[in-house]
Amino acid sequence: MTWGDSLQNFEKFMVEVKNVIPVSDSKGQAVFGPVTELGHEQVLFCSDNETGLKAIIGVHNTTLGPALGGTRMWTYASDLDALKDVLRLSRGMSFKAAISGLNLGGGKAVILGDSRSMKSEAFMRRFGKFVNNLGGKYITAEDVGTSTQDMEWIRMETPHVTGIPVAMGGSGDPSPVTAYGTYLGMKASMQKLTGSDSLSGKKVIVQGVGNVGYYLCGHLKEEGADTYVFDIFEDKIAKVVADFGVNVISAEQVYTMHADIYAPCALGATVNQDTIPGLNVSIIAGAANNQLLNEVEDARRLQERGILYAPDFVINAGGLINVYTELEGYNRERAMAKATGIYDTTLKIYDYAAANQITTSEASIILAQKRIDEVGRLRLYK
Ligand code: NAD
Repeated sequence: MTWGDSLQNFEKFMVEVKNVIPVSDSKGQAVFGPVTELGHEQVLFCSDNETGLKAIIGVHNTTLGPALGGTRMWTYASDLDALKDVLRLSRGMSFKAAISGLNLGGGKAVILGDSRSMKSEAFMRRFGKFVNNLGGKYITAEDVGTSTQDMEWIRMETPHVTGIPVAMGGSGDPSPVTAYGTYLGMKASMQKLTGSDSLSGKKVIVQGVGNVGYYLCGHLKEEGADTYVFDIFEDKIAKVVADFGVNVISAEQVYTMHADIYAPCALGATVNQDTIPGLNVSIIAGAANNQLLNEVEDARRLQERGILYAPDFVINAGGLINVYTELEGYNRERAMAKATGIYDTTLKIYDYAAANQITTSEASIILAQKRIDEVGRLRLYK
């Protein structure tokens, strides 16, 4: 083969590559556009033909410490959807860690594909090697579509993983700590609204009584709240009824029943332009991630309706606090003690929002960014 043939082959190869990879959109920004827009430090594309692994690791900001966030496995409609998801989620982790006073940055990983059929030991260990290549800049954990078993496999290739089982020296299930923080966020909200943080006799709607919702119902019972639950699974409902004597409502009543607090503990985006007009509560405080369908507009709609919104990433940070504690040598009491800070943080956000006439959602992001900026400036000093 002559040099000319090689060149021709190479050019043919490049045309093929350009046909399958969206190198750029009309502005030449398909990949770097969203990365620079959201301010990410590093994005790692991981591919392994042997195992079929395709993953993206997003490192948003490491000013405060290593970027920690779970690995989500999901069948995305397109590679670009996966990229957008990892960028959005990792940015959210930066704010969650910052507002919680943790020395952690924000990161997240997504694995593209079906979590039920594609995973194997080799597959997850290969992913672990990619995590290890980042040398501790990114620390992974469980998320939707990954399990403690997966974390164990990843742990075989890298020390940069949290949320491993208690039996392996890890922190295990984070849900009790998440529920405790959410409960404290509710109390702080009640304090802001009424001058007393007691939930005794208050009507609370809990949507979703899975891991977090279950423990939350336990705290509410202890405090004497009047709790109403809905879940799509009968057995979940039966368990909280048997253990905590809660009341059961329908799916529709979640969005219309008169109560003091609505606690979304199932899915995201349940607070939106369709549900907000019907809500009959004074406070929204729950554990679900991304409760507002539109971060800016739905926060404004709630403010206009006089409904106090406890920013989700602030009051559901117990899970992150739990794995953070694992990095220091796990101790459940220490994790719980650290989670008590959620009460004061929530009140601080409410005061800041009121003083600056902004939504509580905006206030939480501004205060999180402020900590990142202020601590970042310390790096200038020796
Ligand atoms: P989970 O899967 O154990 O529980 C979710 C529950 O919601 C399930 O029982 C499910 O049946 C129910 N559900 C699903 N769709 C529903 C619907 N339309 N109406 C009512 N119920 C519905 O999850 P989890 O670990 O308890 O987490 C709950 C939420 O909190 C999730 O959004 C999660 O991302 C968030 N979160 C969890 C943690 C944690 O420590 N587990 C930490 C931070 C945030």
